[in-house]
Amino acid sequence: MSGARWNRRAEALLLLALCATTVQAQPLGGGGPVRLDPPDGCIPPGQRLFARGLLDQYEAKFGRLSEPSANRAPQLLSFFPLAGRPTRDLFRFNYVDLDPGAGLHEWGCTQYTYDGHTGHDTDIRSFAEQVIGVPVFSALSGVVVATHDGEDDMNTVWAGQPANFVIIDHGDGREGWYWHLRKDSVIVTLGESVAAGQQIGHCASSGVSTGPHLHFEMRVNGEVYEPYAGPCRSGASGWLNQIPFNREAYLHDFGITYQNISASWPVRWPNSGQIALSDPVIRVWFFGTALPANSTWTVKFIRPDGSAVFGGNAQYFGNPFWSWFNWWWTYDVADMHTITGTWHVQLYINGALMIEAPVEVRTTRTADFNRPPEPISVAFLPSGIREGEVPTCVVETSLTFDDFDYDLVRYEYVWTVNGEEARRVISAAHGDVLATDLFRSGDLLECSVKPSDGILTGRGDVISAVVGAPRIPTLSDWGVVVMALLLATVGVVLVRRVRLSHRPST
Ligand SMILES: [Zn+2]
Repeated sequence: MSGARWNRRAEALLLLALCATTVQAQPLGGGGPVRLDPPDGCIPPGQRLFARGLLDQYEAKFGRLSEPSANRAPQLLSFFPLAGRPTRDLFRFNYVDLDPGAGLHEWGCTQYTYDGHTGHDTDIRSFAEQVIGVPVFSALSGVVVATHDGEDDMNTVWAGQPANFVIIDHGDGREGWYWHLRKDSVIVTLGESVAAGQQIGHCASSGVSTGPHLHFEMRVNGEVYEPYAGPCRSGASGWLNQIPFNREAYLHDFGITYQNISASWPVRWPNSGQIALSDPVIRVWFFGTALPANSTWTVKFIRPDGSAVFGGNAQYFGNPFWSWFNWWWTYDVADMHTITGTWHVQLYINGALMIEAPVEVRTTRTADFNRPPEPISVAFLPSGIREGEVPTCVVETSLTFDDFDYDLVRYEYVWTVNGEEARRVISAAHGDVLATDLFRSGDLLECSVKPSDGILTGRGDVISAVVGAPRIPTLSDWGVVVMALLLATVGVVLVRRVRLSHRPST
């Protein structure tokens, strides 16, 4: 059990003393970030040597890795290579540390990095999502030049553990390093050609890692490369459409339960659809991002008739700035032992209402009580799909009210191309992608998604679009290019003739 978590006991005891008589906060609660960033980075030196050894073996067997080309601009990234939606169900970004010394800053000049970090760390919400599965994709087309699998994948402490990983040569001297993958999830093989958007594994916490996340590192000619451009990283962006990064606070998961909370993040805490009058306590938990230093919290309970039960004075988290955090509290609300119906829990952070969450209070809990996930809608990002660019099919739903029993929702994505199934996957992520080698200009793409809580299926949605022409002409488009050139030439000739015929006489 983490120290950081139980340091909060003292605060909870204080709350107990301050509470109104109608609510008793139990001396149980806590959270924090329970993990720090590893001193040697996500890939410690010994593991880099091991990976370099694999690359040497690859070169001895298959030939040299690619080198930068002076004649060709490198490929641009057209999507994020982890399933989901950045700054929604994907969070806690550590970017490349661009400060060469002991200090740190990333491309946006803020501190979403740690000293010496060489890639992008992107978290999924919990181990529960890892178990359902969150795919990792090849960011660009390329050739698989190193793989390693079979290592434990639920690490929560750093102990130099080996990671499951894939390294892809993306051409032009670019390497993509995909780290911390799920055990036995690597589905590409050495020497295999992969397309941008092709699934290579699943997200997990193998290696030097304290929670499930993807460490995605790009290296160009052996040097670390930060694709984001911004105030602290000059030059052109490595993204086709640079993904905006939201540094504001939001809740990315929430739950209410009568059950005990005994594990720490990255375990997802228990959730309940109903609370019984006889349940001694209610527990409220949430995961969030971007908590300013010295933040405060308050909770109010709203009775079914709309009247409020005061949950105590504002309390301090006692925190420095946290780019992500998780927290829970225990309450004994006197009226919750006598008044049935739909109650609401209001959570305020720094005085702002973050959530007003319904909870069903019943005389007794109904066995197997369960409601399906809420209806979803889907959309394509970007909305205009082009040949050669990876389309993302995103789920539009609430991060906290996607299921009113607070169950973790999973999604079945079915992609078709001209009516033929091209990809089917069950994933915990709020987005999925289709590899660029599975469709071309003029094809009809369809993405159909159904939400499920593991037992009941909610109302899904479907979207379709016709694929547009590629941004950069390919060989198959040379006919079009030649025709355009011919038309342009004819146009120039006609304009010259018209001009000549109007030339003023001298
Ligand atoms: Zn990392």
